[in-house]
Amino acid sequence: MKICLDAGHYGRYNQSPADKRYYESVMTWKLHLLQKKYLEELGIQVITTRESQSQDMGLYARGAASKGCDLFISDHSNAIGAGVNDHVDYPAALCAINGSADGIGMALAQCVETAMHTKQPARIEKRRGQNGDYYGVLRGATAVGTPGLILEHSFHTNTEIARWLLDEKNLDRLAKAEADTIALYYNLSVQEPEKKSGWYNENGGWRFYLGNTGEPVTNDWYQDGKYWYWFDGAGMMVSNTWKTGSDGKWYFLQENGAMARDQWIVWKGELYRLTGDGSMFEGEICLKTDEKGALKQAI
Ligand SMILES: [Zn+2]
Repeated sequence: MKICLDAGHYGRYNQSPADKRYYESVMTWKLHLLQKKYLEELGIQVITTRESQSQDMGLYARGAASKGCDLFISDHSNAIGAGVNDHVDYPAALCAINGSADGIGMALAQCVETAMHTKQPARIEKRRGQNGDYYGVLRGATAVGTPGLILEHSFHTNTEIARWLLDEKNLDRLAKAEADTIALYYNLSVQEPEKKSGWYNENGGWRFYLGNTGEPVTNDWYQDGKYWYWFDGAGMMVSNTWKTGSDGKWYFLQENGAMARDQWIVWKGELYRLTGDGSMFEGEICLKTDEKGALKQAI
């Protein structure tokens, strides 16, 4: 999936009559960069129509820049009349007249309605001009075969809306919600790398990966089934050596890595006894032979 994002207008353009700090061109620039960030996090490829905020570019050319993309979105905020109007706030997707962006247009307009808590419901609109689409950006997108839409983020002629759009935290949430809506609409699941789980023969030894984190056990004991193992700082299973437990007692890790329990072992020519919990026995043991002459521990 590849999307072309277009920030509506450039420089300082379309100041809000309701809040003079607001310029549509400034908001849309910030918003489209945030959308890019969140879409890319979802594994979607994104291009933008312009390199810098101060750069102008023709409407048709901006739409046509989406060549090879699956969707073209031009970000805007709407205006009604010349002055303040606190009654009109509906979000709208102005969709290409060929209908190619109707579904995603409605989904995004509804996403804006939910995110911005507008009083009026979302809608999609289409406008025909003399040469196809009335809007130049949509004409350009359609010419290169990209489903195109203009997303009007409510009205900056509305005092509450202009203030809302001035808050960068709001823009961040809005962009994330829009990216999620796109992923959902196109059925794109977030690709998480497969987590390793269980035993892996790596770097000439064995590691045990915890499935919930995908990380190997390091500098710690791990019980797999009936047996305990110990892994060093690099996550490698340690074998044929002694290891102290947190209780300060000695435990023996056999050739296969499993901690020995309730058995005798010969270590460097000397005999050791390991108790039922695996700790090394220290003290006196009484031994006697059985009927075959084998040494047994006398209990
Ligand atoms: Zn605009």
